[in-house]
Amino acid sequence: MLSGLFAVDVTAATVLCVRCGSAGPVARLRLDHHGHGLVAHCAECGEPVLSVVRTEDAVALDLRGTVALTVPLESA
Ligand SMILES: [Zn+2]
Repeated sequence: MLSGLFAVDVTAATVLCVRCGSAGPVARLRLDHHGHGLVAHCAECGEPVLSVVRTEDAVALDLRGTVALTVPLESA
């Protein structure tokens, strides 16, 4: 199940912000690039909702600013 989740295009997902409760597509998040990663901010309130850091052998995803991340399945 998890392999299916992360094999999809996350930019097509909908993210629900912890701070303001707004829901919107990941593609609308404002991105700030930092070194080996990026921070995505809520389009409504500017709060960081997720961050991604890539190292030589791993990718770390931090979703602490996100209530839910809903990923549509291609077959749906
Ligand atoms: Zn927000």
